[in-house]
Amino acid sequence: MKGLVYGGAGQRTWMEIPDAHVRDPRDAVIRIDAVTICGTDLHILAGDVPQVTPGRVLGHEAVGTVVETGPALNGLGVGDRVVASCISACGSCRFCREAVYGQCQRGSGWILGHTIDGVQAEYARIPFADLSTYRLPSQVSSETAVMLADILPTSYEVGVLNGRVRPGDTVVVVGAGPIGLAAIITAKLFSPAHIVAIDRAESRLQAAKILGADVTLTPERVALGTIRALTDGLGAHVVMEAVGTPETFELCTTLVRPGGTVANIGVHGKPATLHLEDLWTRNLTITTGLVDTYSTPKLLAMLAAGQIDVTQLVTHRFALEEIEEAYDVFARPAQTGALKVLLTR
Ligand SMILES: [Zn+2]
Ligand SMILES: [Zn+2]
Repeated sequence: MKGLVYGGAGQRTWMEIPDAHVRDPRDAVIRIDAVTICGTDLHILAGDVPQVTPGRVLGHEAVGTVVETGPALNGLGVGDRVVASCISACGSCRFCREAVYGQCQRGSGWILGHTIDGVQAEYARIPFADLSTYRLPSQVSSETAVMLADILPTSYEVGVLNGRVRPGDTVVVVGAGPIGLAAIITAKLFSPAHIVAIDRAESRLQAAKILGADVTLTPERVALGTIRALTDGLGAHVVMEAVGTPETFELCTTLVRPGGTVANIGVHGKPATLHLEDLWTRNLTITTGLVDTYSTPKLLAMLAAGQIDVTQLVTHRFALEEIEEAYDVFARPAQTGALKVLLTR
């Protein structure tokens, strides 16, 4: 079989790799039907995630069909179509028992395409597959369901729920890439008064507008003044950071009102400055988090019922073996207009 192998900073190759097979009793092997590339994969390639070592198959967002199951795997059978979650969960450690699966202590959490081989391949081994996959109803397409592997639960849990978005709030999303756009889609579930999207790329601001932002700004367009004008001078209730740079994080802390929340979603590779000399009196809450994916069943129900629509997030489609070209397109969004790139078998 073939997979996309990380070869060290800046290097990735679609190449022959050993076949995936069941190793542990709760494993499943899935044939990959649809898979996507994540901004996190670009952070890995930039060298921001040193736990990923050369030789690792990348990828943690896929839909597949079960082809092999371990002897202790319950509730999942050969032929089932599943979304493989970016988070693997043992189900019995201290954190899993509190549904904080991202912090699983049994060597799980975010492991696919991180500490074990991932899903940008023809087949993949999924550990603890009974808890780490979700069987898909026929009305949810594989293309749609791929968005459930990471970006929908991440933006919803780490952005919208950690940020405690409430009806009538003014919500600012800094970064209108796939995660920021999914945050806009799921923030709308709470009927905020305003959703403001901030990004450098006009194409992404256009997408933000289509998906529910009523105000779109580039960082240069005096974001602070605009946010103040929308909120009687107070600032936003909730600001979500969906880029992962020191500048964007620091921008977020200037846009939030006293008592508001900055919810960090971005993957950071460098230290950011926390300006406590300005912030110490402002009663802020700053949240960070890795997604737990406890919300995946509810998001799947909303997708199946048509309550949320993610079809606009996929801008480019490729065959699986064209994945190197797909990376090139995904890595240059300002030129290509790429949001999510979808690869199918
Ligand atoms: Zn991802
Ligand atoms: Zn666990």
